[in-house]
Amino acid sequence: MYKYIVFMGPPGSGKGTQAKKIAKKLNYYYFGTGDLMREEADNETELGRIFEQTWRKGELVEDHLVIEFVNNKLKEINQQNIVFDGFPRSAEQVQFFKENFNLNEALAINLEVPVDDLIKRLSTRLVCEKCDHIYKESKVQDKEVCPACGGHLVERDDDKPEILHERIAVYKEETKPLIDFFKENGHILNIDGTPSVEEVEKNIWEKINAYK
Ligand code: AMP
Repeated sequence: MYKYIVFMGPPGSGKGTQAKKIAKKLNYYYFGTGDLMREEADNETELGRIFEQTWRKGELVEDHLVIEFVNNKLKEINQQNIVFDGFPRSAEQVQFFKENFNLNEALAINLEVPVDDLIKRLSTRLVCEKCDHIYKESKVQDKEVCPACGGHLVERDDDKPEILHERIAVYKEETKPLIDFFKENGHILNIDGTPSVEEVEKNIWEKINAYK
């Protein structure tokens, strides 16, 4: 079994949701840079403020900041088996990845979803401020209260329409080329991300296990 699973896919492809589920099933450490950066911002550190200013614009945080942040967090958690969500996301980050992890022990999972679906999904999702759980607007009775923990549900700042288009454009420009990198230098599974969460999870699980 691979030691590192790297979830890739455009914003709204469901990679965060799937990465968490697969990490739990495999008993691997979930390492989501988006969640870690939001946590840093919640702690109101100087770095957190920079992260927040950047994602509000729909842009990627500068590579040198991300790499130092990730490097520190990896040392802190000191885990052998990791599910990555949202990292690496650029050519420079993949270089760091390559230098620190054996690509033969890494499996990338690329979730494919057409752009129209991404926009529909992201513009109707709510996230819990407390537990980070994500919901479809139509699936919650009270649009302000998290059914899981009672926390406050909000729209993510970067899910607002004008920012959404920017995030998708940035993904195409900076992150999509990494699919080719993993195809040429490592292992990658392409998964159709359009069916239900349960079905996508089942497909990923079956493919991961068949790919050992
Ligand atoms: P996510 O929750 O993965 O969509 O990440 C939210 C935002 O955090 C992104 O739009 C970026 O601004 C920032 N971010 C997360 N991971 C990275 C990364 N690996 N490189 C650069 N920026 C990142």
